Amino acid sequence: GSWYTVKSENGDFIECRMKGKFRIKGIKSTNPIAVGDIVDYELDETSDTITGMIHTIHDRKNYIVRKAVNLSHQMHIIAANIDCVFLLITVNNPPTTFSFIDRFLVTAEAYGIETILVFNKIDTLDEVTLDDQLYMQHVYQEIGYKCLRVSAVEMKGIDELKEIMIGKVSMFSGHSGVGKSTLVNALEPSLQLKTKNISEQSKQGQHTTTFAEMYDLSFNARIIDTPGIKGFGIVDMEKEEISDYFPEFFKLKDQCKFNNCLHKEEPNCAIKSALERDEIAWSRYNSYLKILEGDDEHYRTDTYDE
Ligand code: GDP
Ligand code: ZN
Repeated sequence: GSWYTVKSENGDFIECRMKGKFRIKGIKSTNPIAVGDIVDYELDETSDTITGMIHTIHDRKNYIVRKAVNLSHQMHIIAANIDCVFLLITVNNPPTTFSFIDRFLVTAEAYGIETILVFNKIDTLDEVTLDDQLYMQHVYQEIGYKCLRVSAVEMKGIDELKEIMIGKVSMFSGHSGVGKSTLVNALEPSLQLKTKNISEQSKQGQHTTTFAEMYDLSFNARIIDTPGIKGFGIVDMEKEEISDYFPEFFKLKDQCKFNNCLHKEEPNCAIKSALERDEIAWSRYNSYLKILEGDDEHYRTDTYDE
């Protein structure tokens, strides 16, 4: 809507509107401002209740977008100034594929947002699924992603997660059913998040208006909740750019013979050589090819539920 709740420096919440029309450099967006934005405002003295007028939006360190509904050439800013995103993963209930994780990571790398992989429901693993989980974790740890193993219901790994969140603005993402709400409730039992997406809500016959919100947690951490948003937004990128967002590919690509190498059929490709020596995981390479061969004009990554 046109009102925003702004938390002031002294901790009060002020209902604010925007002063005039804002144009954000570089993108065409349907909303000028999003949860996570840092703004300057002045109090509106003409009204009998205290409201504010936002006149300045500070530069964003990052922001995530999705396509605006019904306006194909415009973007909608989902959230801004995110320090860390936790991608919740369950091996089989529901299954989270390598391909989904890799698309997510490429998007987050392109946005410049740190991602931590959180393997939830470790209490449910049997011999086979434990092996699968540990292998998945191994693949991502090898290339530098921090991984946590947690159980939201058995409260395992929660302290380690809290430790990472201190002083930061975090988001939780992942397929529905992986345990996002349960985990956030484990972190802060007094908080009742609205993380269910819109279709789940209407199934339950609820008609609550949902909007993105930031919450202060008791242990000096903040989380952004974006109800109705399943994925982590989209990024348009050039073909040649995709491998830049696979950190283990990026490290090697200077060693490819051709500087516009797409790491497919080209001779003397450092990435193909590393793959043949098992120094790059085949799952990662296959995800790369899938993104590369996506039929979208701009090699769009899209982390919405598959
Ligand atoms: P969300 O859609 O990602 O918010 O997922 P929910 O938090 O609603 O969780 C989906 C289901 O998984 C619920 O039935 C939870 O009780 C269950 N669940 C969540 N975390 C765990 C866990 O660590 N272990 C087990 N066994 N079940 C979990
Ligand atoms: Zn190459």
